[in-house]
Amino acid sequence: MLEAAKHSTCSPIHLNLPLCRDFQKGYMTNLKKHESCRLFMLARFNMFPSVVVRGRYLAIPESERLCKCRKQEPDTLEHIFFSCDFGSYARKQLFEALKVNRQIFTQPTVQDLLADSDDQITLIVAEFLSAVHEERMGHDKET
Ligand SMILES: [Zn+2]
Repeated sequence: MLEAAKHSTCSPIHLNLPLCRDFQKGYMTNLKKHESCRLFMLARFNMFPSVVVRGRYLAIPESERLCKCRKQEPDTLEHIFFSCDFGSYARKQLFEALKVNRQIFTQPTVQDLLADSDDQITLIVAEFLSAVHEERMGHDKET
């Protein structure tokens, strides 16, 4: 099964995250809000709702899987975490919270944020994903 997962795009292995956290005690039990937990899991599995993931299922060419924000960048997790126009306020809060918790990554990676190696970081990141998802859903309704 692990051998198959290695080649899977929709797997924590794709992002080089340790798979054990998805089955053992970790974010699944620590995150109390169901929606935050769900979104954190989807991000770990490289399936956070985005144009890229939608395109994967609808067979839209990769070059056309661009975010609907002004940046016109591929709607990847990197884009969502670090540069998307959606969630800019939530991002500010995310980085401030990381600082307050003395988890100062000068340049955090997607892997750092989704590693689930620290309960507090996981909670902060899950709240960010929740806020971003809500903002994106609101935008989709308007357009
Ligand atoms: Zn964007």
